[in-house]
Amino acid sequence: MRNILLASAISATLAISGCSNDKPVDTAASADSPKTAKAMTPKTNALMRVSPLDYYTPEFDKVDTTLYEPALELGFTQHTSEIEKIANNPAAPTFDNTIIALEKSGELLNRAATVFFNLSGLISNDEYQRIESKMAPKFSEHNDNIYLNPALFKRVESLYQGRDKFTGEDKRLIGEYYKEFVRAGAKLDEDSKSKIREINTELSTLSTEFSQNLLASFKNDLIIVTDKSMLAGLSDDEISSLADAAKKADKQGYAITLVNTTRQPILGKLENRELRKKIWETSAYRAKDVNGPLLLKMTKLRAQKAKLLGYSDWASYVIADQMAKKPSEVFGILDDLAPKALEKAKAEAADIQAVIKAEGKNFNVAPWDWAYYAEKVRLAKYDMDENLIKPYFEMNTVIHDGLFFAMNKLYGITFKERNDLPVWHDDVMAFEVFNEDGSAVGLFYLDPYAREGKRGGAWMSSFVGQSKLKNTKPVVYNAQNIPKPAEGQPTLMTFDEVSTMFHEFGHAAHGLFSNVTYPFVAGTATARDFVEFPSQFNEDWMLDPAVLANYAKHYKTGEAIPQDLLSKLLKSRTFNQGYDTTEYLAAALLDMEWHSLSADAQITDAAKFEKEALARHGLDYAPVPPRYKSNFFAHVFAGGYSAGYYAYLWTEVLAADAFAYLQEQGGLTRENGDSYRNIILSRGNSRDLMDNYVEFRGQKPSTDALLVRRGLVTEKATKK
Ligand SMILES: [Zn+2]
Repeated sequence: MRNILLASAISATLAISGCSNDKPVDTAASADSPKTAKAMTPKTNALMRVSPLDYYTPEFDKVDTTLYEPALELGFTQHTSEIEKIANNPAAPTFDNTIIALEKSGELLNRAATVFFNLSGLISNDEYQRIESKMAPKFSEHNDNIYLNPALFKRVESLYQGRDKFTGEDKRLIGEYYKEFVRAGAKLDEDSKSKIREINTELSTLSTEFSQNLLASFKNDLIIVTDKSMLAGLSDDEISSLADAAKKADKQGYAITLVNTTRQPILGKLENRELRKKIWETSAYRAKDVNGPLLLKMTKLRAQKAKLLGYSDWASYVIADQMAKKPSEVFGILDDLAPKALEKAKAEAADIQAVIKAEGKNFNVAPWDWAYYAEKVRLAKYDMDENLIKPYFEMNTVIHDGLFFAMNKLYGITFKERNDLPVWHDDVMAFEVFNEDGSAVGLFYLDPYAREGKRGGAWMSSFVGQSKLKNTKPVVYNAQNIPKPAEGQPTLMTFDEVSTMFHEFGHAAHGLFSNVTYPFVAGTATARDFVEFPSQFNEDWMLDPAVLANYAKHYKTGEAIPQDLLSKLLKSRTFNQGYDTTEYLAAALLDMEWHSLSADAQITDAAKFEKEALARHGLDYAPVPPRYKSNFFAHVFAGGYSAGYYAYLWTEVLAADAFAYLQEQGGLTRENGDSYRNIILSRGNSRDLMDNYVEFRGQKPSTDALLVRRGLVTEKATKK
């Protein structure tokens, strides 16, 4: 029941990409109400019945937007009555009558919601958006009704107290349920519960305000240039789009609009140093006066909420539910990387300083100079033309001879195209996946092309979760936004698109290889600081020599990709990684520092706190500011990533460490694939995630391999 229980879990499944934060934008609800008033039955509404298709995959050819509301409404009603029955059962609580009953509940709601939320990201239109706006609060209310149901919690709590009578996945499941209830506030007295509700309301208002201040800043903090000569360095097209932007904003001349990070891409091109400085300062100080006081209030309220729930600070509360478990583990990894990243950034700064000097100029590199001179360094050292690479990455060859080939070598799996199954769009491919012994693994859909109505970025999600209890095998999909070529032309992919395809299949493998009993802990339903591990791990197989030799061939001549082109490409991937890693670490540490404050901390000046926090970690290096400064750190103050921004790099540490370890064990072999599949991929959240990692790896993760992956040290330097 996990997918429906947590309204947030639904967005979590969809955001599993983590790869992009793009979410469908809500537009105003359409005025027309759908013609759904007529009663529907399983005969007329495909979402109301169990699918007759293989793997219970949805009947996409029979789904339209009129089916959702009746199916969801009926789903809410059914689930509510199931929950009431479980909560008010006169029999003493047992694992069967409480936990298993919960796991089996919500069948219809889950089925309808899964199809709805997935398709609303894949083939959205006004109607999908209207239904989403209408249904979102109902999911959140439904969720509260379950987790704040005192009778239900009492049953879960009593099982939790007797949990030592259980073992394995059963025991884990009891613990996970208990934790969900407690974290939602189920254990608190009425007074504290109402305080939590007040804090939640206030936090949600403040975070909306924070986000609206940023939206206003995007609109108002335009940098207006009236003298065209100041735009030297930009192309004619770029200049004319700045002129268009000015016109749109009712201004004379040219208007430069900010992007969300501290760094601004346009700084890489502008020759005029004064203008660069002005743009950078506008970016770095945006919304400072309005958002500074807001984030002070927010961090205080979060600390108070954590205290009510029994934690010393917000980071401890958030991370208790993560693989890292304790803030000290997170600080440990970030602080280990910080000096190495900074050292590399300083070496990059020296290269940049040399160019500045060679141009006869006499200033030290400032943040607004970095991108402009780094681009000159890049052109001199690593110039790469993407168009030379693309003919070696034809999509069908990449899929079959690259991705599927690598997965076969590792896991022994094979893919059989299923043209007989319905799909949600003509571009979608369906594959049945088999083990080496011929047994079925599940279904995999691939939706590669960009189109209107599909959200941006790339992601993975599932239509049917694996569960031995329910006797279901996984049905998963990957979505990407590769531009579709003209009819009859081949799809030639960029290096990044190929890498994304492998990345997303890493998530798909995590779903497909799930081998657990309970839906609540199946597949990718793991912590935020774990879920991007299998995906980043899978990226690196695209560069395995045996895999490359099998797929990176010229689409016309069949010639293998030339070695010098490949070496140049690989080398260019480590360009500017000192800067990139340092700015990321600075932001991640800021997030952790803000959320390590106790409820009685007295902070009055956000900028001062930020400066001191960076200094504590040795990252107060002026040329490389944090990727986000506190005043516009939307992930943390206007999104769901508070005390969680670290997760992106944490999972990359795991991925690099695991991949390097398998390289030492012989690389692309069935033994390695099986070990990784059995210990890491198949267990979902049915066991402690760090215990799994240590069992697989023989030790806790180390940052050594990440340093090599990002080119922050040479391979030799990390050998101990
Ligand atoms: Zn991902």
